This record gives sequence, structure tokens and C-alpha cells, in this order.
Amino acid sequence: MNGVIDQYRVEQKPYYHTVADEVDLYEAAYGVRMPMMLKGPTGCGKTRFVEYMAWKLGKPLITVACNEDMTASDLVGRFLLDVSGTRWQDGPLAIAARYGAICYLDEVVEARQDTTVVIHPLTDNRRVLPLEKKGELIHAHPDFQLVISYNPGYQSLMKDLKQSTKQRFGALDFNYPEHAVEMEIVSHETGVPREVSDKLVSIAERARNLKGHGLDEGISTRMLVYAGSLIAKGVDPQNACRVALVRPITDDPDMRDALDAAVTTFF
Ligand code: ADP
Repeated sequence: MNGVIDQYRVEQKPYYHTVADEVDLYEAAYGVRMPMMLKGPTGCGKTRFVEYMAWKLGKPLITVACNEDMTASDLVGRFLLDVSGTRWQDGPLAIAARYGAICYLDEVVEARQDTTVVIHPLTDNRRVLPLEKKGELIHAHPDFQLVISYNPGYQSLMKDLKQSTKQRFGALDFNYPEHAVEMEIVSHETGVPREVSDKLVSIAERARNLKGHGLDEGISTRMLVYAGSLIAKGVDPQNACRVALVRPITDDPDMRDALDAAVTTFF
């Protein structure tokens, strides 16, 4: 086994609660090495799902959180100066392609446009990654797969994936799980009893109805896990909800009042 790639193996089985037929569909997509796009709001389980699938398929996983300062070199690699001169260092995408990992580019739309240029030849039948500065063409390892996440709510005309990029991927839709499933996730992740996770999910559902009516994004499963963790540590539930659910998502005083009222309805 290769030491470089071994550090990316998912050793422990990640807890993932299946929501629909996403596991089977992903497995079939991996079988034909189809690049995949996981679509859905932030904090609804996309990253956990990829971790689980990498574990299930027994493949290493390299995750890259994309941001607006990220360039193609951050993905592909660059020459570094050290005492003995210059030395090439593979970026995460090059490591994944070379050694056969699943490469998960989280929120790829955030990265600069030049990053899409490097993913194109990897996402069609060429399956190659040109390292232009190094003068090398990596032929992707048979196990390599590219996965990206995409939050449809965030896109604007200025910042969206081009059709020519989107059409290179199969897509799975993600959303906040239904009430009973989300309760189970929150209780499992935090240890709070079901009565508590039931209330947390109900608060989130109220807030999600306000999306587009003053809230840009609803309360995510991740936020419920934060709130539950505080409650499990003995924090008063109302305070836990303020800290983990209400204050992070809005600065608008009226909206905070509306959300606080939802919290006091349940706790
Ligand atoms: P995303 O990648 O969509 O932003 P994450 O995968 O990081 O979101 O999910 C945030 C948290 O929500 C996870 O750390 C996990 O605790 C929980 N979670 C959400 N959905 C699930 C699920 N289906 N099974 C298990 N945990 C989940």
C-alpha cells in the first residue's frame, strides 16, 4: 500500500442515516466512475454521505473545502523552494488522480473559474490531469472519482457552474431529512433524548418555513447537532438554541424575535 494515500483512508465506519436510495445510486455511479454532484443546502449531510460511501467502497477520500481564493494550483500542485532547490508538490486533486482516491470538492463554485479548466479533462472519457507547470499528464488511476457539492440556493448569475461543467456530472439531491429521521440523527450524534431532538427538529422546521421570507437559509441539521451537543452538556435548552440556532443565522432583530418565540414555544 502507498503511504501517501493511506492517510486518506476512512478507517472508522461513519454514522450515516440513509434518507432514500442515495447509497445504491451512488454505488452504481461509482461503478462506472461517473463524476457526481451532491446538491443541497449547507449542513444537510452531503459531506457525511461521501465519507460513508468512501468507507463502504473501501476507497481513500480527499476532501477539499473550496473558497474564493482557491486557484487551480491549489488543486493541482506547485513547485516549492527548499534547501536542495525546487521540488514539485502534488495538490490534492493530483494525489487523488495519481493514487486512486475519491476527491470531494466541497462548494466548488466558490473557487476561481480556472479550477473548472483543470477538472474538465478529468470528468470526460480522457480521465487525465495535465500538470502544465511540471510538464506531466496524469492518467487517472482506475479507482479515482471526482465528487463536488453544490448549494443551489447560493448561486447567482455571476457565480454558478457553467452548463458545460454541470453536464459532466451525475447529480443527487439532498435536503434536510424528514422529521423522524432528523430526530434520530440529532439524538445519535449528541446523545439527547428523543423528546429533546423532537423539539429541536420542530424549531428547525418553523425556521425553514421562513427561508425566502427574511432568512437566506434554514436551520441545518448541523446546527441542530450543535444545539443538541450543548444541551447534552447541561446548557439550558433555550440558551443552547439561541447560541446554536438563532444567532448564527440572522442579525435582524425582528427575525431573531420570531425565532426566539419558536424556541420558547417548544422549550
Ligand atoms: P454538508 O456537507 O451538507 O454541509 P454535513 O455532511 O457536514 O453537511 O452534515 C452536517 C452534520 O449533520 C453531520 O456532521 C452530521 O452530524 C449530521 N447529518 C446530516 N445528515 C446526516 C445523515 N443523513 N446521517 C448522519 N448524520 C447526518
